[in-house]
Amino acid sequence: MNEISPPLPETGLRSEARPTQAEAEAAVRTLIRWANDDPLREGLRDTPARVARSYKEMFSGYAIDPVALLERTFEDVDGYDEIVLLRDIRIESHCEHHMVPIIGKCHIGYMPLKRVVGISKLARVADAFARRLQIQERLTVQIANTIEQVLQPRGVAVVIEAGHQCMSTRGVHKVGVSMVTSRMTGCFRDDPATRRELLAMIGNRSPGSMES
Ligand SMILES: [Zn+2]
Repeated sequence: MNEISPPLPETGLRSEARPTQAEAEAAVRTLIRWANDDPLREGLRDTPARVARSYKEMFSGYAIDPVALLERTFEDVDGYDEIVLLRDIRIESHCEHHMVPIIGKCHIGYMPLKRVVGISKLARVADAFARRLQIQERLTVQIANTIEQVLQPRGVAVVIEAGHQCMSTRGVHKVGVSMVTSRMTGCFRDDPATRRELLAMIGNRSPGSMES
């Protein structure tokens, strides 16, 4: 599996005009009524507006071009050609099947070939894809493919460990379960020693650095 297409387009719904804030608020009022409560009672009166604003933030990734985030690279690295790893990046996403949170962490590694990028940019790429309706598998691949495409390094490795609230607060109600996904390209895929080194770097941490 090399390419996973971005979410949606096939329905064509994306080409319709984006709903207004008022339309989004009306939809939330409908869901409140569906939950059997009264959208006009005092505690809920401002909820539709708040929810619409939250959605703007939680799904702000659609407005970000992840490729553009990586455009500024540095070539003056004095021949540095070992693994660069940013680990324990907090991930806040939403499952596209239930629209409830996926919370976890992401480790992003790459083996540079001439070019490196500012490390905060790697975290921003993760956020740009996380702040969309997602499945963890696609999120993992999208982050890796973007880094691969722009930096063209010797290899990219993305590992995500996350808990899914659609599993813990509904459905099977299993708490404390995390799902792990990974996408390895280039030297991380082809060279077992390099892959082992990366996984050791991800796993090798001081006590207390694991809390999320
Ligand atoms: Zn779900």
